[in-house]
Amino acid sequence: MGANQNGIPKSAMVIMAHPDDAEFTVAGTVAKWAQAGCEITYVLCTSGNAGTQEPGMTRDQVAAVREEEQRAACRVLGAKQIVFLGHDDGILQPTLELRRELVRQIRRFKPEAVITGDPTALFEGDEYINHPDHRAAAQAAVDAVTPAAALPRLWPEDGEPHRVRYVYVSNAHKPNVWVDITNTIEQKIVALRQHKSQMGDWDPAEMIRNWAAETGKEKGLAYAEVFRRMTLEPPPGAESQ
Ligand SMILES: [Zn+2]
Repeated sequence: MGANQNGIPKSAMVIMAHPDDAEFTVAGTVAKWAQAGCEITYVLCTSGNAGTQEPGMTRDQVAAVREEEQRAACRVLGAKQIVFLGHDDGILQPTLELRRELVRQIRRFKPEAVITGDPTALFEGDEYINHPDHRAAAQAAVDAVTPAAALPRLWPEDGEPHRVRYVYVSNAHKPNVWVDITNTIEQKIVALRQHKSQMGDWDPAEMIRNWAAETGKEKGLAYAEVFRRMTLEPPPGAESQ
């Protein structure tokens, strides 16, 4: 079977642009899956090295702080591996080079599911224009998943081909999966608070609860995260579902 009976994959890779992206968006799902035994790897394209207003810090210093914050957040969530690809923050592009780096990580960790953002998300609501790095990371992620990672003749020196079964696109416009995060929303908030350099004096708890409550309302869930799940190959024996 692909996913187990709770619909939770055995392994998952979270591919995002910056430290804190996953905590804002998908961390309730990450914590829930980790609790169920899912092996979770983060791959972050940048270390957020432009993400500070503080004067006098070098980019390397900012990156080091943010990587440490991300490690702390992953400990809270139970995500065991983190890979930092080290691209510069603010200028990420969905290049072939980035696609290839992601293919290498997908072939290395062989995740059953990949969680990423929506590369087509540009205008969200009427107050937020999506960060170009978020779109670039998501575009490179889906392009790495399919078909690149599964092609034996593409970049064979970067590992054995691997077919990802599920892509969970966070906050996509045509969602089809609502993950109940009622039991892990507090973990999500604690994980997000680990990104101290980004939070300043602001506490994200209320905003996170409001988002998750709004998302869950449609399905009668106290708190939820929403995805468009793409199933790239039906798990064996799942034809009747
Ligand atoms: Zn971000």
